[in-house]
Amino acid sequence: MGMKSDIKLIDKKGLRLDGRKPDELRPIKIEAGVLKRADGSAYLEWGKNKVLAAVYGPREAHPRHLQDSSKAIVQCRYNMAPFSVSDRKRPGPDRRSVEISKIISEALENVVMTELFPRSSIDVFIEVLEANAGTRCAGLTAASVALADAGVPMRDLVVACAAGKIEDTVVLDLGKEEDNFGQADVPLAIVPRTGELVLLQMDGDLKQEELFKAMEMAMNASMQIYEIQKDALRRRYAVVAEEEKDEIDSAQEEAKT
Ligand code: ADP
Repeated sequence: MGMKSDIKLIDKKGLRLDGRKPDELRPIKIEAGVLKRADGSAYLEWGKNKVLAAVYGPREAHPRHLQDSSKAIVQCRYNMAPFSVSDRKRPGPDRRSVEISKIISEALENVVMTELFPRSSIDVFIEVLEANAGTRCAGLTAASVALADAGVPMRDLVVACAAGKIEDTVVLDLGKEEDNFGQADVPLAIVPRTGELVLLQMDGDLKQEELFKAMEMAMNASMQIYEIQKDALRRRYAVVAEEEKDEIDSAQEEAKT
């Protein structure tokens, strides 16, 4: 954010480097249930970001001093693979990944019915395979689909999206160059059913009216992303139902012989 460059981020027609209009999202694809050994999982592509989310639990929280006798805890680990960025990233946690893990855990705790699982932990692993700005939003959006895929009771999904400012224009969903050379980035997450905000951050500077415009843009786009999340879950449930039917059919066949 705020790096100096001669790159023009918006052309004369008002289009951005990748041809998008100011209020246009990068393409998003989500697939639920991609990992066999996790209780729930999701793979998400958002522009050039590629993210995997895996969920385990609810299971007994370890170490035991973390246990809460009244509710489950949601523990997220956000990790960027060494090969996810152009210069190899040093493996392991750093300040940024600790911060992102914390804000994602807190956002998800707002929707998971933690009160149903005292002393438990619901573990969410987010692996960023390719990063191109907006990975916290991509990770959180994928994680909430993975939680639903795991059958974890939730009040709703969480959807995350960012908006920001480049060349004095408020734009949706900043790409990498826009993130590097732009003026501000505002990632947020909402619970679509209630409109509740469960994450709001701001990097850079915005006037109050610009902040409100960016928030409105990101919230509107979140409703589009919500549909993509629900679609991924519908496709997943159709596959699960088909697999269960096959299992019942083959058990009945076996019983006959
Ligand atoms: P977000 O990915 O949520 O936008 P940041 O604003 O912190 O989070 O990062 C913006 C982008 O900068 C990332 O998506 C990634 O492409 C790049 N980036 C972040 N950390 C590193 C790093 N350690 N090395 C190289 N690139 C990085």
